[in-house]
Amino acid sequence: MKNIAVIGAGTMGNGIAHVFAMKGFSVSMIDIVPAALEKGLANITKNLDRMINKELITEAEKKETLGRIKTSTSIPEGVRDADLVIEAATENINLKLEIFKQLDQEAPAKALLATNTSSISITKMAAVTGRPDKVIGMHFMNPVPVMKLVEVIRGYATSDEVTKTIMDLSKTLGKVPVEVNDYPGFVANRILMPMINEAIYTLFEGVAGVQEIDTVMKLGMAHPMGPLQLADFIGLDVCLSILRVLHDGFGQPKYAPCPLLVNMVAAGKLGAKSGEGFYVYTPGSKDLVVSAFFR
Ligand code: NAD
Repeated sequence: MKNIAVIGAGTMGNGIAHVFAMKGFSVSMIDIVPAALEKGLANITKNLDRMINKELITEAEKKETLGRIKTSTSIPEGVRDADLVIEAATENINLKLEIFKQLDQEAPAKALLATNTSSISITKMAAVTGRPDKVIGMHFMNPVPVMKLVEVIRGYATSDEVTKTIMDLSKTLGKVPVEVNDYPGFVANRILMPMINEAIYTLFEGVAGVQEIDTVMKLGMAHPMGPLQLADFIGLDVCLSILRVLHDGFGQPKYAPCPLLVNMVAAGKLGAKSGEGFYVYTPGSKDLVVSAFFR
């Protein structure tokens, strides 16, 4: 495996491009929004600089890594030579089904098609292609260059051989893969999202404030980040989409998204990426300031 195509240059897509390029793969990073490609490349550059400051890589390695990443706004052009495509576009089932139909037509017949979805059925995406045995979930964690886990999700028709290839490839990237089956939210988000949703309900019902809730979970449960800060970091739109998949998939009220989360997404308060969620984010500042809405 040599050529990797990544669909989407957002929070996850640029991180995935970064780790593959660091390990010597040729990466084609594709996004329909040119500004997202620019922002994605700028983020990779910033993260590589951070690694230089920590003396983890040299200036020459940074240059080589960036030299292995090309960008494109066209799926047909970007996936033409791919051995593996990793879809990391917005968490929306209809969008992903369209992308998988297109990937099946445009990527070489032998190419494996992976998705970084947080919750959507791998089996459904595989079913719109003519190669369901070659479709698999490769769920990286945020931030991709730092987090060790890759949740590898087998769809109904994913072959043993493809699963083994992706497990081995994850190890080549220095990650720890864990194989799971294809049910809504898989393992990671089936457990994480109800906790985040409950934290938002706790705020919504006035049990405690933003900082108080996060402090209880950080100091009381030894979580490195409180659930509200983590939700901001993941993206509140992404959290809402995942909760909807859990709610639809299991049909149980316990997964119903908190109305406060729904309102925040409707208001464009998406967390760190939009500059405001439960906290406000000022470029260049590391201070964690609670949004005026919750003060
Ligand atoms: P994001 O909103 O930061 O980025 C999504 C990108 O996809 C955008 O740049 C958008 O322009 C692009 N896009 C939309 N339609 C496209 C298309 N047709 N072709 C090419 N690009 C397209 O989202 P994200 O947080 O990076 O999430 C991407 C995927 O990764 C989602 O499936 C999400 O569930 C999953 N994921 C997210 C996290 C997280 O912490 N944010 C963690 C693990 C997995």
